[in-house]
Amino acid sequence: MSLPALSMVVGHTLQVRLLSRLLRGDRVGHAYLFAGPSGVGRATVAMAVLARLACVSPPADSADACGNCRSCAALRRGQHPDLATIAPDGQNIKIEQIREMTGRLRYDPVVGRIKGVVIAQCDRLHDTAANALLKTLEEPPTATHFVLLTTQPETVLDTIRSRCQLVRFGGLSPEHVAALLVRAGVAADGARAVSALAEGSLDQARALADPGKLALLDLVAELALSLGAIPADEGVPWLDRLGRSLSAAKKSEGLTAGDALPGSAGPMPDASAGGDEKKPKSTELSRDDLRLVAESMRAVLRDALLVACGVDADGLPHARHKAALLGLASRTDPKQIAEVVEQLLGFERALVGNANVKLAWAAMITRAGQTLA
Ligand SMILES: [Zn+2]
Repeated sequence: MSLPALSMVVGHTLQVRLLSRLLRGDRVGHAYLFAGPSGVGRATVAMAVLARLACVSPPADSADACGNCRSCAALRRGQHPDLATIAPDGQNIKIEQIREMTGRLRYDPVVGRIKGVVIAQCDRLHDTAANALLKTLEEPPTATHFVLLTTQPETVLDTIRSRCQLVRFGGLSPEHVAALLVRAGVAADGARAVSALAEGSLDQARALADPGKLALLDLVAELALSLGAIPADEGVPWLDRLGRSLSAAKKSEGLTAGDALPGSAGPMPDASAGGDEKKPKSTELSRDDLRLVAESMRAVLRDALLVACGVDADGLPHARHKAALLGLASRTDPKQIAEVVEQLLGFERALVGNANVKLAWAAMITRAGQTLA
């Protein structure tokens, strides 16, 4: 794999400048919280920082790692013994994962100058795991650096948040998303089309850069824009239709979630991160799929909201659904559409918890239909 490097990061100019300055001045703190939308490259930035800190002969004039030392070589092989990523195992990050990590941190670095841990989705730390982590953050072992990642900084425990320096990341511009997709081999016109729908997230763009997924998105748009015009409970069985469409898309297999993209927040080289991602074989939608569906519905409804406020549909990302956008905008008012956007956000929050997803879907989609009727 290629070595993550701050100089290669697309976008996030201010954040990269800040971190570069700290790295060159040898003033990097022991714990950071990188907060921002998913898929904008926070994990790559985190690994670039840790790679530079671990590098045995860091160049004085750059915030990148040297690329040649034993630490850089280990990272390139994807087997760095001093750097690890922890991510939720199932719904949560479990205490066993934190214990295993803290056990390893007791020893000196093996090949690099420091030990580093990236904790992905740290808002999903189980309570006991959070307490165990807290102790380590309070009294960090020497030469150890933590970067915690979250899309929801407000749900991270105060005690953990207060021990980390916060760095906020914004979404990527559509131009940056398109540039990263092209760098990963996606054709330029496809990259542009998808980047307009990706809400600044490379992960989302990557998930969509496939004809099968675009067909799913059309189905999602059709559902979102017909809400209120069809009976309220008719949205419920759409879950199966979307599931069938998505499983057809997965069979056609374009880019898969495991592909390493520059700037992506993909999995890191660490066995404990669980590289063997389980993909549902059935037509059942996973929680992640449902989040994509909900996010896409919100993106479509945002366009409808703009049309309802008098914006010309032709310039919008979902312009190809112009007739349906105009239809929804003409039979509802902006307040109703905004309310459904809120309902979708509530549904997305429920997906993070232990809610029964089918029931949550049925409740949300029925309510949305009633709101727009
Ligand atoms: Zn090096």
